[in-house]
Amino acid sequence: MMESSVAKKEKQRTWHQAMTAERRCHWCGGPSVKEYANACEVHLEFVRGHNRRSKQKQQEHRVRNRLCRYCGKRPPRAGRSTCGECLTLKARFQREKRLRLATVKVDLLMDRGLIRLDEAAARIGVHRTQVHRLIRYGVLRAHRVHVREHGAHGAFWLEERQVEKCRATRLRRLGTMSGKE
Ligand SMILES: [Zn+2]
Ligand SMILES: [Zn+2]
Repeated sequence: MMESSVAKKEKQRTWHQAMTAERRCHWCGGPSVKEYANACEVHLEFVRGHNRRSKQKQQEHRVRNRLCRYCGKRPPRAGRSTCGECLTLKARFQREKRLRLATVKVDLLMDRGLIRLDEAAARIGVHRTQVHRLIRYGVLRAHRVHVREHGAHGAFWLEERQVEKCRATRLRRLGTMSGKE
């Protein structure tokens, strides 16, 4: 006897719910991976491969039909596979992603004992332009980081150890200079 399609659907739904609740794969009933409630490693990879392939097919289809590879709605720019609007959207997304990363990075930099350029200048006792010069001459090593509040050119972060060494050298020089006078 054939099962009715309604009963079959209902059975599938119950199975799916049960597997999700028990954190088991809804294909094979095996244990789920950490990031998904109801897919095991094997079946997750299977689905991902399938999605990758179908996305690729979709994009190829769009290119063949002279449509933007991303949205499939507008014609692409001359000699390109994407439209101008998608380009703008992609650029914005990437900028936002970069800024998100930068914010995380600042916390990380502080954790690693790196200090901002202004603070370094104050510690050494020189103007910030002098610190810039030291960085350019290779006396001080700096890490350039792009942070939201520092505009397009990014900000310099210096190693605390080097800054302290630089401060000591400067104080010593000042001492000998005043000694000669
Ligand atoms: Zn599975
Ligand atoms: Zn587009």
